[in-house]
Amino acid sequence: MYELEYSMPSSVNDAVAEIKKSSEAKYLAGGMTLIPTLKARLSSADMLVDLKGANLSNVSVSSSEIVIGSMTRHCDVASSSEVLSSLPALAKLAGGIGDHMVRNCGTIGGSLANNDPAACYPSAVLALDATIITNERAITAEDFFVGMFETALNENEIITEVKFPIPEKASYIKFPNPASRYAMVGVFIAKKANGVAVAVTGAGENGVFRCSEIENALNSSFNVGSIDNVEISPDGLNNAIHASGSYRANLIKEMAKRALNEMI
Ligand SMILES: Cc1cc2nc3c(=O)[nH]c(=O)nc-3n(C[C@H](O)[C@H](O)[C@H](O)COP(=O)(O)OP(=O)(O)OC[C@H]3O[C@@H](n4cnc5c(N)ncnc54)[C@H](O)[C@@H]3O)c2cc1C
Repeated sequence: MYELEYSMPSSVNDAVAEIKKSSEAKYLAGGMTLIPTLKARLSSADMLVDLKGANLSNVSVSSSEIVIGSMTRHCDVASSSEVLSSLPALAKLAGGIGDHMVRNCGTIGGSLANNDPAACYPSAVLALDATIITNERAITAEDFFVGMFETALNENEIITEVKFPIPEKASYIKFPNPASRYAMVGVFIAKKANGVAVAVTGAGENGVFRCSEIENALNSSFNVGSIDNVEISPDGLNNAIHASGSYRANLIKEMAKRALNEMI
């Protein structure tokens, strides 16, 4: 890791002003991805602008949505009474991320900004049609995830909060990589007034995606058996050391069935 400057501004505006002082500066959230990549010299920075002082860690709930501040840690989402009562699938997702240290440091904003193709939160954001709020604008889930480790965020743009509409029912199940707990395949199913949405993480070459084959089957008949005849093509799925594309295609169906079993 190279020598660098560190600052912890006390507001979002101050953080933006601070980061503009250097083209090599980066925002720091939980540091769970950024610090190891800096240490391994896979990434570089001459200044870290820590968002911990910017008052972005909070959870609030209304009858129709849950709003989670970007610096809210995974452990706080997992144990939030508001999330547990209004959207328990999201609390479960957060509680299944990594290990204790990752959950005690990692944040929802850091996870979404990083957009790891095997991260859990992107599937919930996409299936629930959440909105990513930044210091500049509101971005729909559909527009936010651009590709592997790529998002619609502009340079220096800060995610400030994420707004999740509350569905009728939802469930998230992943097949975790036994070493890291990242999703080899994770499936988030949301049953909403306007239909069923199914988002898959861990499997796609370009990151999270909606699975229209399973969505169509469940919109015709919302039961586990309706998935039996769905064919998931391995085309476009990750063929990496941990699992082949066809294995992941099979896992998508299997995780979807397990998620449905929890909902029905
Ligand atoms: C061993 C291990 C296991 C893991 N397992 C899982 C898992 O099972 N499931 C899962 O989903 N994730 C997993 N993760 C990822 C982890 O949950 C973190 O979410 C992730 O590392 C990034 O969050 P962070 O808060 O640490 O962000 P950081 O590492 O601090 O930042 C990541 C990137 O996001 C940028 N950034 C951070 N916050 C903001 C913001 N508010 N606005 C704009 N840009 C921002 C930073 O500049 C940086 O580029 C794992 C990580 C590790 C190390």
